[in-house]
Amino acid sequence: MLEINNLHVKLEEGEKVILKGMNLTVETGKVHAIMGPNGSGKSTMSYVLAGRPGYTVTAGSAKLQGQELLDMEPEARAAAGLFLAFQYPVEIPGVGNMTFLRTALNRTQARAIDELSAGEFLKLVRDKAKSLKIDAEMLKRPVNVGFSGGEKKRNEILQMAMLEPKMCILDETDSGLDVDAMRLVSEGVNALRSEGRSFLVITHYQRLLDHIQPDVVHIMADGRILQTGGPDLALEVEKNGYAEILAAHGLTE
Ligand code: ADP
Ligand code: MG
Ligand code: MG
Repeated sequence: MLEINNLHVKLEEGEKVILKGMNLTVETGKVHAIMGPNGSGKSTMSYVLAGRPGYTVTAGSAKLQGQELLDMEPEARAAAGLFLAFQYPVEIPGVGNMTFLRTALNRTQARAIDELSAGEFLKLVRDKAKSLKIDAEMLKRPVNVGFSGGEKKRNEILQMAMLEPKMCILDETDSGLDVDAMRLVSEGVNALRSEGRSFLVITHYQRLLDHIQPDVVHIMADGRILQTGGPDLALEVEKNGYAEILAAHGLTE
């Protein structure tokens, strides 16, 4: 589904190099988790995949189902099935949540959502929103404006549920969530797990992985993947921290 090869990325302004030979393969239908200390480049990797400006790719490639993402416009990446749930979801004043969802679907989906009447579309969104405990009132408000941290994260999962992407990247979707909100978000994600869809779950903490059980766990630091293992690797890190893994690669915390 996703194949990142020897990816090197620096900030467009200045000389700071963030990704230093990132390699990652996520198979179709699998859930991979990335853990790692702050500043490892986890968010940068997600932004570069999604096509956010401000970064320069100096080497490497990132392919989605064999298609080079790095050559595509951000919108084309979304249309190809890539979805990023942001660590810090953006507020969009003046754009209603419903309008945003309908426009996003029209721009990215092969299936014509235009054929649905306004009433049918509203029902579709409401049904999905209900399971995430997002009330109808929130659907009418501008995207994320005045939403609490937990509401923003649930709204991201609602967008994901509506767009039905193939490759979902969740960047610290658990940060700032209380236990109940984390359970809602996790249930929302688990409901979308399927044979044809892959997930990359970026998290600081093992606790999210109690709810969204990964097939594969990667440890990232200093702009690359240092170690890959099964779910046990996350438990090991929770218990012992990153120091030992970092030291094995000549890095310190
Ligand atoms: P993570 O998500 O793993 O915490 P980030 O990708 O956010 O890591 O950041 C990686 C490193 O790059 C950090 O040292 C961070 O401070 C730096 N960095 C990222 N974006 C910028 C930016 N726009 N300007 C300056 N430094 C940045
Ligand atoms: Mg961080
Ligand atoms: Mg981050």
